[in-house]
Amino acid sequence: MAEPILKVVNLKKHYPIRRGMFNKQVGNRLVVDGVDIQINPGETVALVGESGCGKTVLLRVLLGIEEATEGEIYYYGKDITKLSKQEKKEMRKKVQMIFQDSMSALHPRFSIMESLAEPLILNGMKDKEQIEKIVVETLEKVGLDAKYRFRNPESLSGGQRQRVVIARALVERPELILADEPISALDVSLQAQVLNLLMDLRDEYKLSMLFVAHDLAVVRQIADYIVIMYAGHTLEAAPAAEIYSNACHPYTQVLLESAPSISKGIRDEEFRLNLKIGDTPDPAHLPSGCVFHTRCVYADENCCRKVPERHKISPGHYACCDKYMEIGRS
Ligand code: SF4
Repeated sequence: MAEPILKVVNLKKHYPIRRGMFNKQVGNRLVVDGVDIQINPGETVALVGESGCGKTVLLRVLLGIEEATEGEIYYYGKDITKLSKQEKKEMRKKVQMIFQDSMSALHPRFSIMESLAEPLILNGMKDKEQIEKIVVETLEKVGLDAKYRFRNPESLSGGQRQRVVIARALVERPELILADEPISALDVSLQAQVLNLLMDLRDEYKLSMLFVAHDLAVVRQIADYIVIMYAGHTLEAAPAAEIYSNACHPYTQVLLESAPSISKGIRDEEFRLNLKIGDTPDPAHLPSGCVFHTRCVYADENCCRKVPERHKISPGHYACCDKYMEIGRS
């Protein structure tokens, strides 16, 4: 079997909490606390969870913007902390990010041409004609006419800007795309268009993708494998078809029940009707036992005390709930 393009093992990102005159460490915020992800070449893995579950911090660690507290990250089998300077540079070209907020992802004073040319120039390309050719080709690939290269980000619509952000991620012909909620800032009418574009580009360039979303409806079409995250923990992970047909964790079941409504603009309060009242837990004070017990309608005393095991349901399908057999698919 081919080497995974990205393998993340037991990744943790904790932030110390310091107090007092001597800035003494009094605890930790456990923002990411033991996440495993594997992305095989050509595969799209979706990371799904509510805001504040640690998805964005995880992406920042994968991009090298922040250091992991613990855990391993392998790129084609190589520990990324042990890559040489040259190998790191190569990896940065091959792993690109698509940001959620297109306005802040693009330099406001740069023309689209400048924004797209910048990574090529930084990586040593000097031939102006070649740079312009690549920029024009890439703009056309994302469905924008070449004339858009002379415009500024603020003169474009939200949908056009997001296409430019996608073009910028593609301009160096990457292998792996990390997409942070790439369609959630768009109008519902544009979401399907941009999602279809991403799927076409993925197939054309044989890209692998880590697609972050808060909505299981959004990733239904694009994901091969889904990881469900809550309060920095993985609660369930499975091939996409298994998640939609045989979700075993109560939280995944709630996400599934809410999915069609969320994409139509459900309010947070309505979403919470399916859960016990309360917000996602504070990473500085995570619940004991099962991290989900404060909102789980099936929680009992045992759930408050014992961290649930990672149960194997079927090949590639895992759920962290000790009562999954009793609960079944609701
Ligand atoms: Fe709910 Fe208990 Fe299962 Fe956790 S272990 S998800 S609290 S039933």
